[in-house]
Amino acid sequence: MIVSERNKKRLITIALFSPLSLLLCLSVFPTDIWTRIAQNSSPARVCQENLYKIDGAKEQYALEHNLAEDAKVSMSDLIGPQAYIRQTPICPSGGTYTVNVMGTDPTCSIGSEHSFAGVTCRECQANLGKLDGAKEQYALENNLPAGTNVTMDDLVGPVDKSKPNGPWKVLRKAPICPGGGTYTLNPIGTEPTCSIGGTHSLDPIYARYCQNNLAKLDAAKKKYALEKKLETGGKITNDDLVGPGNYLERTPSCPKRGTYTLNPIGTAPTCSIGGSHSLSAIK
Ligand SMILES: [Zn+2]
Ligand SMILES: [Zn+2]
Ligand SMILES: [Zn+2]
Repeated sequence: MIVSERNKKRLITIALFSPLSLLLCLSVFPTDIWTRIAQNSSPARVCQENLYKIDGAKEQYALEHNLAEDAKVSMSDLIGPQAYIRQTPICPSGGTYTVNVMGTDPTCSIGSEHSFAGVTCRECQANLGKLDGAKEQYALENNLPAGTNVTMDDLVGPVDKSKPNGPWKVLRKAPICPGGGTYTLNPIGTEPTCSIGGTHSLDPIYARYCQNNLAKLDAAKKKYALEKKLETGGKITNDDLVGPGNYLERTPSCPKRGTYTLNPIGTAPTCSIGGSHSLSAIK
């Protein structure tokens, strides 16, 4: 099956926002994002982001260790140079964090606004993912090139009963940012954004997804090099790694449409977007 670039993007968007992928994606984000939040935010907001970070790390730890609900997790399971969070998060108001068992949100001793209830970025990210997917579908159905402007009216509307077979609008209701941000759709080919920014953005999720792709490519390269006894500097092509029954079933796609370069043995694979879209940006 040939999948067009746009269809690929849509498939990624759907895969990304399935509940399991949300769990997988939400764990460890590049540090610069957290630094930016710390500089621009109130103490309560920074604390909420810490709780969010702890929660994401818990989810990933539980997934990797096959933990059940109610399983005990401690901060030391999550933090360390090789773990899910590099440094212990610090509440800017001096509160202390309790990780709590699986299935219970982590808490800050200050409580009130310093609580997980204030964490709105997850829902916002899901909204942005929905909008991004809706844009892609609309572009596909109407054959729109990248750069075309799209409005909420193009995407959102009730089912039109006078047209039993459609076409209907992609979304029934406009998503609302739980933190009070406003959404900008942006033209086709550019992700939608929330006015709150920081973690209210698809960037950390897409970067994490791209990092996972690069890690997969890197692992496949290493296996291939070992089996074929290739030395450092040895050349490798996509066809060496990808295909049914091969190291990777299909070529991974960057959700921001970056292109991957495998690079010779001994050099990490790269995404053309760079920055947070790189293996060195992990943790
Ligand atoms: Zn706090
Ligand atoms: Zn938002
Ligand atoms: Zn990328």
